[in-house]
Amino acid sequence: MEDLQRRADTLIEALPYIQQWAGKTIVVKYGGAAMTDPQMQDNVAQDIVLLRYVGINVVVVHGGGQPITEMMKRLGIEPKFASGLRVTDAETMEIAQMVLVGNVNQQLLSLINTAGGRAVGLSGKDANMIISCKKESGEADLGFVGEIVHIDTKVIHTLIEAGYIPVISSVGADSEGQSYNINADTVAGQLSCELQATKLVTLSDVAGLLEDPDDPTTLIGKLTAGEAKALIAEGNVAEGMIPKLESCIQAVAGGVERAHIIDGCTPHALLMELFTDAGIGTMISAE
Ligand code: ADP
Ligand code: MG
Repeated sequence: MEDLQRRADTLIEALPYIQQWAGKTIVVKYGGAAMTDPQMQDNVAQDIVLLRYVGINVVVVHGGGQPITEMMKRLGIEPKFASGLRVTDAETMEIAQMVLVGNVNQQLLSLINTAGGRAVGLSGKDANMIISCKKESGEADLGFVGEIVHIDTKVIHTLIEAGYIPVISSVGADSEGQSYNINADTVAGQLSCELQATKLVTLSDVAGLLEDPDDPTTLIGKLTAGEAKALIAEGNVAEGMIPKLESCIQAVAGGVERAHIIDGCTPHALLMELFTDAGIGTMISAE
């Protein structure tokens, strides 16, 4: 009996949050180690399905750096990186598309759908959703690493309205059909603006933004976009955290209320972020 009472209490505690988020759009960027561990994958999929069932419009964007690297190694190709981005020649682009669209995306759909959701997989090429071009980098030639020229959200709105969960892999194309490998954080950031999402929640493999990347106890609980920019300029943010933080800055500058970076390996991190006052990880706001 006590146990039943406790369960009812937990549900009732969630009521104000459910009321707050119902009907709102939340973009979830799925990445890091939470993508490769089966138990963590199940937890994330369950959370996404629960959010949809309580009336939240969830849109998922995923990358897949680790699976792409694994596939390249299986094929005997050594991955190359320049300033945190994968140098993407034609062969690497082919592999990235195979892995992201054919493999990671499909796996994510299966997880969400077996957890009881109705997920539809898309790449940025579907319905010309993400028009991209070559990203010009000052230093090395990054090949087919792309940046976003334009996002057309019509297909996403159509899916949301029909109750589906769009799951988007970060591949785009230019008007000639050339594919580009785009950083998934960048896609999630810009998409959250275009959709006028209430929140952008990034699941990664760190507790959040760390003052000292080598010391997990230095978690920064919250900061403004201006403070985040200053941290990047000071050089305290490196590698994959740079596009992540930049996408959060872009999101809040573009009208998204809050952007969060949380540890996807914490069981039910998404629910903890959305349905508790304390929240977890790092929260970025405009001011
Ligand atoms: P994801 O798959 O989530 O995109 P990334 O590897 O691209 O993961 O980015 C997250 C990584 O960024 C962390 O695992 C960490 O090694 C690195 N990083 C660099 N600087 C920081 C920082 N200041 N705080 C937290 N992580 C950082
Ligand atoms: Mg990354």
